[in-house]
Formats: sequence, C-alpha cells, structure tokens
Amino acid sequence: MRATELHLVTLRQPPAEADIASHRWLVRGGFIRRVTAGVYAYLPLMWRVLRKVEAIIREEMDGTGALELRLPALQPAELWRRSGRWDTYTAGEGIMFNLRDRQGRELGLGPTHEEVITTIAADLIRSYRQLPVSFYQLQTKFRDEIRPRFGLMRGREFIMKDAYSFHGNEEDLRCYYRIMDGAYGRIFSRCGLKVLAVQADSGAIGGAASQEFMAVAEAGEDLVLSSGDGRYAANQERAQSLPSPPVPLGVAEDRLFATPGQASIEAVCGAHGLNPSQTLKVLLHRACFAHGPHQPVLTVLRGDQEVNTVKLINVLSSLLADRGTLLALERLDADALNNHGLQLPVGFLGPDLPDHAIEGAPNLMGSFVRIVDATAADLAGFVCGANVVDQHRRVPGWSALDVSFTRADVRAAQPGDRCCHDPHVVLTATRGIEVGHIFQLGRKYSTALEANFTTEGGGSEPMWMGCYGIGVSRLAQAAVEQNHDDKGILWPLSIAPFEVVISVANGQEQEQRQLAEGLYGELGAAGVDVLLDDRPERAGVKFKDADLLGIPWRVVVGRDAAKGQIELKQRSKSQALTMASSQLLGKLLPQLQRQRQGMVPEEGV
Ligand code: ATP
Ligand code: MG
Repeated sequence: MRATELHLVTLRQPPAEADIASHRWLVRGGFIRRVTAGVYAYLPLMWRVLRKVEAIIREEMDGTGALELRLPALQPAELWRRSGRWDTYTAGEGIMFNLRDRQGRELGLGPTHEEVITTIAADLIRSYRQLPVSFYQLQTKFRDEIRPRFGLMRGREFIMKDAYSFHGNEEDLRCYYRIMDGAYGRIFSRCGLKVLAVQADSGAIGGAASQEFMAVAEAGEDLVLSSGDGRYAANQERAQSLPSPPVPLGVAEDRLFATPGQASIEAVCGAHGLNPSQTLKVLLHRACFAHGPHQPVLTVLRGDQEVNTVKLINVLSSLLADRGTLLALERLDADALNNHGLQLPVGFLGPDLPDHAIEGAPNLMGSFVRIVDATAADLAGFVCGANVVDQHRRVPGWSALDVSFTRADVRAAQPGDRCCHDPHVVLTATRGIEVGHIFQLGRKYSTALEANFTTEGGGSEPMWMGCYGIGVSRLAQAAVEQNHDDKGILWPLSIAPFEVVISVANGQEQEQRQLAEGLYGELGAAGVDVLLDDRPERAGVKFKDADLLGIPWRVVVGRDAAKGQIELKQRSKSQALTMASSQLLGKLLPQLQRQRQGMVPEEGV
C-alpha cells in the first residue's frame, strides 16, 4: 500500500487524556481515535493490526477443534434472569448496558455470552454422541466500566474472542482446558507478547479452576505475586501465602488501658511499644443484596495484615447464599456510619462490638456477620479496641470474648510473604495486563439454563462447560505497552500493520522514485506486507513517522539511489546497513520468514 492512499494523520502532541505510553503512541500514530469515554474508532492502521491478531487467534482456535460462530450482542433480560445474573450485572456492578425496546421488553448489550451460548447448546445438543463441542467468536463486547481508561485497555466497547466448550464429564472438560491453555500460550507468543499464566479468581462468572494470562507491564492494572522458583504465580486477588509469624505477646490478664487519640494501629503500637502483629484490626462493611435490608459485616484481621475484598466477597457470597445475589460490598468507615446515623467508636472497635451498636440503622439487618481471618484467629493473646473511645484492651485469648466467628482466609497476600509450597521462597510482585482468562465453569450455567444431554446409560444430565476469553483490542495495545521507545512503537512483526516501509527520501528525484517503485513491486510480489512512503514530505518527517508507526523494517531510498544503493534498518536497531538494491530481497526475505515464525532476526542484519 502507498502512504498517499492511507490517509495517514499523525500527531505531534500526545492527547491530553492519555496516561500511558501505549495509549499516547496509538493516538499519535493515527491508529485510534476516541469517540467518547471508553469508545474508540479503530482507524485503518489499527484495523490491519487487529485483523492480524484475529488471524492468529482463529488459526489457534481452529486448531483446538473449536467452531467459529457469531452470537448476538443484543440479549433478552429473561436469559440473564434464568442464570441469576441480571441483577448483579445491572443493579449490582452495573456493568451491563441495558434498555427497553418499544414493547417495553428489557434487553442487555452482551458483556459476555455464557447465557446465550448455553441456550443455543441446550437446543442443539441432545446426546452424549454430540459431545464434546466447542464454539468461539470474535465479537464486540459492551461493558459500562466504572473507570474506562488507558485507551483500548479498559474500553466500554471492545473486541473479545470468547469460546465456550461443552462436555459429557468433568475429566473431558479438564482435558480440553489443558488444550486451550496450550493454544493460549501459542497465541500470545505468536503475537510477540511476554505473558505470565497465573491462578485467578473466578469472579462473577463463577466456576472452579481458572487461569489468567498477564502481559507483563508496569502500566498493568493487576498485581501478580509469583515465586522466584517458577512454581507459583497468582493474581493478588486470589493469591495465598504464609503470613509472617506474629511477635509473641504474653498477656496474663484481661486489662483495659488508655489510648488517648490513638485511633490507628500505628499510633497504638508507637505509644505502647507493640508490634502490629500483636494487635487486631476490625473492619465494618455492608453487603448489599437485590432484595431485603443490607447485611452488616464485621471482619477481624491481624493488625499487620490487609483485607482482600475479593476473598471477602467470595466468603460472604457462599455464607449468605440463601439471601440471593450479593450485589456489592461497601466499606462502612466513619463517614458512612454517620450517614447511617450511627455513632461508633471508630478507631477503637473490638471484635466483640455488640450487635446493639447498629440498632435502629435504617435498611440494615440487626446483627453482624462476623468473619475472622485465620492469622487473627490463631493469636493466643492480642491487643484490640475496647469499643470505647480512647481505650484499648489486652486480651489473653479468644475465649475471653463472648462472640463467635466464621474463620476464613480473607487477608491479602503481599510481596515478601513466604510461599505456601516452600517457606524458603518469597513472593515477588509484578504488574500485569490481563489479556486472557480461561475458566472451568462446571455445570452452573447448564443447570440454570437446563442444557442437558442424554448419557450413554440413558439418563439426563447437565453438560460440563468451560469458557475462554481474550481481550483482542486490549492485547493489541498491550503489545505496544511492551514494545515502544521514546520515538514510538516497535510492533512485533506478526501483528505489525506493515512488515516493511520503503521511505523515499526525496520524491522529486526521478531515480529515487523509480528505484523505490521497483522494490515496492518486488517485495509485494514476494508476499511481503509493504508500505511505500511516497508522500511529498521532507525525509525527516517520513523517518519520524516511520519510527512512530513502528513498522519493523525500513528501506531508505535516498541519494545513493543513483548508484543503485539503499539502506536497510530495523526499527529496533540504531545501525543501518547499506547495500545494493539487488541484494535486498536476498537479505530481507529469510529474516522475515524467521520472524513470522516467532524467531528473532539474525545478528548483523
Ligand atoms: P478485568 O478484570 O480486566 O475487568 P474481566 O475479568 O472482567 O477483566 P473477562 O470477563 O475475563 O474480563 O473477559 C475476558 C477478557 O476480555 C479479559 O481477559 C480482558 O483481556 C478483556 N477485557 C475485559 N474487560 C475489558 C475492557 N473493559 N476493555 C478491554 N478488554 C477487556
Ligand atoms: Mg478476568
């Protein structure tokens, strides 16, 4: 393609709203334009990148035996009510755009497609003979994200590859999950991404095993904790670790002591020579359900630990399953308590804060659900708030308190914690961008949506399901986040908008033009994806743009064209190689071939 036909519009200045490098370069390079918050136009250059990413995904998905289809974005509320997710996705997280049609029927724009595909599978699949089967699509998804940001990273309209598999038994699901795991590894490495596979929380989708694929990048929104020995890596949302042992605190007798103005663990420890691991921390939340009053929750942690709200939500969801869907968990800090008309001694709360402390608060159940993290529950003696302003208490043991708790793991694992599999290894933190997620869903959706099949023995059972997502548009931007410098993008060859750019230094020169045209024809005929920069611009502008666009190889046809000489340069290298134009194909084609197969080019080229 010729640059004069590409309507290339590059910008000198980054857009004001772009906080991270990949977002800046994609806008400046003319790859994307913002239409409204979290909604972007993919311009022709970006579309070429996305089509290449999609082609790699298609090849690998087809390779697993999955069948491509396309499901509707517009989905009836009724399906989501049957799976029990309408309330969570609309009233709860509010992530699903929803609307009423002219007949007053409720519809949602698909944030994901479990409901639709399970209904289709229930219709198509009757017998064990039709199993296993797997479907996938490349499609636009809609999510009304609370904080759309970072360009394509967190959009409200974005492209996803989602696949769903159906099996006659759990073992078959596990086996296909491993096949998908392998295909995912190949997809990301073929796209030139450095990705970590990590254990993940299954979130609102539900299910058993799940794994995320994290593109390693400082700008990533997720925190991954991993062990140096390569045996453990997990999203912090679900990571487990061995807590550091507490500093022992011998407490002989139950005793109150004055802590004037010492409303934080830090202040109490500082004033009384305590270690935070000798104290308890009490947090209050309210759990909101679609129906009925909210549930107050009192959580106790060891003073040196932080709560992991994802774990806490999971614990509450199963503990309070009979109350319906847990829509949200909100922290009750001093302001929130005030808004409820409650005056509690915040900063001095103890685990035995009595239920009557929350009496009379509107729309709040009359008693706490009490959760204690295992590290706090295991303390022999501890210091905690006395439920009176400016007072704390030394407690010889839990039996001194007249309350009962549900014991659970609700603490956040931290970098520096020791690993569960080997206490000599500690966890380190890496930031990542979640580019893919695979789940073993089990039978949650097939049961709710009655996707049953007839077994070999003649019985009827719900199918076993897996689901597998890739954020296609996010992946493309993640590739830029991992591959850029201060001049612009360095696309991995496999997904670059063009493999080679030919820059004509001076388009007025007949010899330069002719030589460039000749090479353009030859490279094109050899199957190379080549851009000819034939714009009537100064050489400097063209070189700057070539760096900005990040095309992996550049051929410069300049002054030496008269002698039949050209320059060949890789975007990632500073050195250019001068050669006779007749040598170009012989040099370049084998390198492109290597790179298309995911290898690096040979040295010295
Ligand atoms: P996140 O935790 O980042 O919100 P998720 O867990 O909600 O993602 P999934 O439901 O697993 O995401 O969706 C599958 C894939 O779609 C994700 O792995 C991610 O790559 C991509 N994705 C999810 N939300 C967005 C978004 N708002 N914009 C772009 N891509 C997204
Ligand atoms: Mg996810």
